[in-house]
Amino acid sequence: MTGNYMWDPATNTSFDIGVNKESLLPLWWNGSEPLWVTMVKAKRKVFMYYWPGCEVEILGHRPTYCIPYYSVPTDANFSNAVSNAIESLRNGSADMAAVYYERVDVEGHHYGPSSIQRKDAVKAVDNVLFNMAKLIKDKGLQNDLNVILFSDHGMTDISWMDKVIELRNCINMSDVIQLKDRGPVVSLWPAKDKQIEARKTIYNKLKTVPHMMVYMKEDIPARFYYKKGKFVSPLTLVAEEGWFITESRETLPFWENGTGKRDAWQNGWHGYDNELMDMRGFFLAFGPDFKTNFRAAPIRSVDVYNIMCKIAGIQPQPNNGSWSRVECMLKNNANLAKAFHWSSSALALILFALFV
Ligand SMILES: [Zn+2]
Repeated sequence: MTGNYMWDPATNTSFDIGVNKESLLPLWWNGSEPLWVTMVKAKRKVFMYYWPGCEVEILGHRPTYCIPYYSVPTDANFSNAVSNAIESLRNGSADMAAVYYERVDVEGHHYGPSSIQRKDAVKAVDNVLFNMAKLIKDKGLQNDLNVILFSDHGMTDISWMDKVIELRNCINMSDVIQLKDRGPVVSLWPAKDKQIEARKTIYNKLKTVPHMMVYMKEDIPARFYYKKGKFVSPLTLVAEEGWFITESRETLPFWENGTGKRDAWQNGWHGYDNELMDMRGFFLAFGPDFKTNFRAAPIRSVDVYNIMCKIAGIQPQPNNGSWSRVECMLKNNANLAKAFHWSSSALALILFALFV
């Protein structure tokens, strides 16, 4: 799984998240084992709410319970999911629950990360968390429940007025057989008949384009943990922060802002270089296995998996996270309580971010 939009040349199948039904084929998802699959295999019960991909059979398994993701779950959906998750953990029908909240991401895209609309969405999250804390207390679960809150990405301002790179002005589009995604990262497959030659031609032209980088698959920086992905294209384009790569202005991902027409501009985006401050997310946790009033040094998104495994008492699969960056957050006697984790697309915000 390397993006929200992928292509498999072998089967000529596309993965267009939230758009085509082929995106639910196990083909895309079987490349790694999600925590919920590992847990279900260990006879543990996992409840998932609006979590992208929870309806997919991965490596032959599905979570115990899944409310599929749809665009866009409401604040009421979110509130009900959290209450339902806590009750399911209390009565033993679930050992772990995961809830995905998207509205912070959506408002950030539409109005920008600093907008009132985006801030309102965070206030809605705050309300639900207030109620969640009360619920945990009322049910006497303070010593039994670990809660993890995190976003899977940040967000930065974009400006379609001036910071758009139109590929049709840079290369001959007939040299390209397939193009996936738009914005900070674009995947490009050169035409088949003259693939090697076309790749070099396209590469040389794109190398001169300002405000973006072009990489041959084998040259993608190792720090992205990306180049060995099964669906990575022969050429990958990466925009400078705030710049937006697309085939042409007509193919920009406009949205419908009450006019009945999809013609409104987006003002925020994510997926830029993860070293950029604006791309940072947040991580918060509390519960019996976590230290209190402890502030850790920055961690990476790939580290969250190891924390979740530890809390759930599950042996982690091979991964790119670092245990030494997160070990400090846990009490020495960690791994005694049940696990509950929750993901938000909050603030400087959300992942798999899927969604536009
Ligand atoms: Zn998004």
